[in-house]
Amino acid sequence: MRIDKYLANMNVGSRKEVHNLIKKKIVTVNGEVVKTPKEQVKEEDQVAVDGEKVAYQQYHYFLLNKPKGVISATEDKSQKTVLSLLKPKDRYKDIAPVGRLDKDTTGLLLLTNDGALAHELLAPNKHVTKKYRARIAGVADEETVKVFASGMTLGDGTKLKPAELKILMQDKESDQSEIEIEIQEGKYHQIKRMFGAVGMKVIELDRISMGKLVLPATLKRGQYQEITLKEIK
Ligand code: URA
Repeated sequence: MRIDKYLANMNVGSRKEVHNLIKKKIVTVNGEVVKTPKEQVKEEDQVAVDGEKVAYQQYHYFLLNKPKGVISATEDKSQKTVLSLLKPKDRYKDIAPVGRLDKDTTGLLLLTNDGALAHELLAPNKHVTKKYRARIAGVADEETVKVFASGMTLGDGTKLKPAELKILMQDKESDQSEIEIEIQEGKYHQIKRMFGAVGMKVIELDRISMGKLVLPATLKRGQYQEITLKEIK
């Protein structure tokens, strides 16, 4: 690959900025000063800018604790997206959220430019489970547990796979419940529609895990951390 592409892909700067660094003679490959942006480099070459090593990493993975009020998209004309929460240096080309959480849903969202992994995690036949905690208007009970476990059909005829509902708190006085729910798919507004179908309303929804990926307790809302593919796998 050309050295200017390598450096731009690693977010050292735009192509133009990278060309300026090369002109300044501060870019080296295996200790030799780079003379032209067309110079070819291999991933295993030692690239440095101003003496600082720039290792090549094709894919990046970020675990985000999504706050409310941002949409799970890469760009939008009027609304803030989850990508805007990444520092500019981490906004690698093609980075995107893996699946979607609603604007008012919080919690675990993986962002990556590894399209194959995203596809693997979202493929319906892979049954990657997603676990959520929620506060519900209405009293969820054993009957709700049974309905969800049976694989319910939504009002529009969508047939769902069995979902596991755990009741953490029921309060008849305030007519609210706190629950944990594990679903095997990720249909549009799925959890809100499931509770809607049994006459209840989701007040707060927070994703706590996706497959084996768990939201770290130390990660505050709006914060993110980079993880490796090895950790994901
Ligand atoms: N189900 C929903 O209703 N909303 C989400 O954001 C995720 C699952």
